[in-house]
Amino acid sequence: ASALDAEALRADFPILRQEVNGHPLVYLDSGATSQKPQAVIDAEVDFLTHTNSAVHRGAHTLAAESTDAFEDAREAVAGFVGADAEQLVWTSGATAGLNLVAYSIGNATAGRGAPASARFALKPGDEIVLTETEHHANLIPWQELAARTGARLRHIPVRDDGTLDLEAASALIGARTRIVAFPHVSNVLGIVNPVAELVAMATDAGALTVLDACQSAPHLPVDLPALGVDLAVFSGHKMLGPYAVGGLYGREDVLADLPPFLTGGSMITTVTLDEADYLPPPQRFEAGTQPVSQAIGLAAAVRYLEAIGMPAVHAHEAHLERRMRDGLREIPGVRLLGDAEGVERVALSAFDVEGVHAHDAGQFLDSRGVAVRVGHHCAQPLHRRYGLTATVRASAAVFTTDADVDVFLDAVSGIRSFFGVTA
Ligand code: PMP
Repeated sequence: ASALDAEALRADFPILRQEVNGHPLVYLDSGATSQKPQAVIDAEVDFLTHTNSAVHRGAHTLAAESTDAFEDAREAVAGFVGADAEQLVWTSGATAGLNLVAYSIGNATAGRGAPASARFALKPGDEIVLTETEHHANLIPWQELAARTGARLRHIPVRDDGTLDLEAASALIGARTRIVAFPHVSNVLGIVNPVAELVAMATDAGALTVLDACQSAPHLPVDLPALGVDLAVFSGHKMLGPYAVGGLYGREDVLADLPPFLTGGSMITTVTLDEADYLPPPQRFEAGTQPVSQAIGLAAAVRYLEAIGMPAVHAHEAHLERRMRDGLREIPGVRLLGDAEGVERVALSAFDVEGVHAHDAGQFLDSRGVAVRVGHHCAQPLHRRYGLTATVRASAAVFTTDADVDVFLDAVSGIRSFFGVTA
């Protein structure tokens, strides 16, 4: 039995009331982007209908109300990940947050920022340690930073069963390591990585830690200060919130010493024609007009999740995960990626169907009303590691029911015969 009444929660998500290709929609693509409850849609519409005005400027009533709503949203979203409002920088998403960090470190390397920013400066031979499992968003910004600074990328290998090789990690992380960046949960493997162990190794080496929490924040209780990471990113649209909004969390001393990435309006104190002084964090990292209605929508999303309770969300999804994984293991020709036993997971499974291209499998599932993601899921190196170019990925959320999983499993079991693949 599950920890919550997903059938009742489904009613909060208007998009789920439709049929696709003559079948009730079974939405198993929350890893790409989650659906939005009415409360989130209403929060954005309500703000745009009654309050909308520019924040942090203007003397008029609506501007003050907008600013209050925007800063309340910051407090709510920061609180959702255990942080204080000053520790949350609004971004347009996780990709933007990771680029912000990498470019800020590049700026520190170029001698920009306060004197204390020099602690982030990289030199040739310094090492940035990532994992083999990264989403391209937590890989390419570091490739660019390495190319600009002469730092070298190292990659913690992933074992056949999808777990990170911690012995290899402890051999890799050492005196040259300056940054350790890794996913809390890989968007392909669904396994919750051992954050505490990796943070301990990085801290011993004096390295900065950067956590990609995109696939954990919507599914488990996440307390970023307790995890001990220096910086972390998450994405609004994957956690029942709007598009084009996300968060960058930072330890106060780390944000205080990082130079800005984007510059312009709203992040300054005094500006002359030749130079400018910058505001403290988080505003120092929020140049230009911010995603105000989206931030308010994201606050509604975290309030929705908090009302259910993240422990219940996690328990529900752990139940779905077992049902999905046990079912997939029974289907001939299905090969699950990262099928480790005894690890903590979110309800996300990527798999190959022997003899059928992932895109064909995805179209067949769509013909049954089942929405999944197919392709490399922005993790080409990880797919290459497993000798594949594409997989099918099914990912659940708080509104996913046992019945959804059963329809999905029944459809998957019909894929190979539909395409004439014999065992
Ligand atoms: N990291 C991971 C693990 C992801 O799953 C995603 C989204 N697919 C991203 C980063 C990028 O997030 P965003 O869409 O907010 O840029």
